[in-house]
Amino acid sequence: MQEEEQQARQCLFATAPGHKPARSSGEHLFPKWMRKHLKLDLRQNSHEQVLGRPGQPGYEIRRRTGLTIHRKINCACRSCNSGWMNRIENEAQPVLTALIAGKALPLDAAKQLAIAKWVTLKTIVGDQDHLETTAISARECEQFFATAMPLDNWQIFIGLYEGTEWNARFDHFPYVLNASQQPSHDRRYNTQSTAICFGRVFVLSCSSIFPFLFEIKGMERLWPPTAGTVTLSTATINDGNALATAKIIEEVVGVAASRNTAVAKK
Ligand SMILES: [Zn+2]
Repeated sequence: MQEEEQQARQCLFATAPGHKPARSSGEHLFPKWMRKHLKLDLRQNSHEQVLGRPGQPGYEIRRRTGLTIHRKINCACRSCNSGWMNRIENEAQPVLTALIAGKALPLDAAKQLAIAKWVTLKTIVGDQDHLETTAISARECEQFFATAMPLDNWQIFIGLYEGTEWNARFDHFPYVLNASQQPSHDRRYNTQSTAICFGRVFVLSCSSIFPFLFEIKGMERLWPPTAGTVTLSTATINDGNALATAKIIEEVVGVAASRNTAVAKK
């Protein structure tokens, strides 16, 4: 997509009732407040972004200046950015900060929900990075604008990470499942998983137009909510299993991914 086209984009929530037409501005994939808490090698000043899947239309490796942590996605307007989206960020910041530092913080229902909302927001923003493979429908975006709550047909998980390769990494996998049976949907891709890792925190969202529910060994479910308080104490995600966890949908339903991932270039 050309730079001018990007700049002319409408806010991704602009079709929602109550939202006035507004141009989008840049939204950070990783919030600025998080940078000082992550042990990042700031001398690295580029990363590779992998779009699509080898052998498929649209496959491309883009070399980008700056770290993934500096990435901005031109998708939401200033009013959304500084209003309700910022409230989600502020609500999640204290609990995420404690978890990044490795504090064994009990996560009660309110904290679990604060994180789940934040993961929903970041997933929707990241899904807008590559419009050709966007997998979250306009209806879902409108509903999120209206309620600022995690959505139906979404699952959100959290686990503790220990390793060196996934800090400040964002992997997004769009899928087409059962295309012939899919209900009316305004995107080509109807299912996605997104893994976001920062410090000791590894969160994962899975959403689909088809309702499905599964468990992930070594991760706690944040959404749909479970009854109890959880405390993460043992790292279960590492450099050996992080990618497979990020693509858990493939294990669950047995499909290959179309890939959109941004990884710091070694
Ligand atoms: Zn907006």
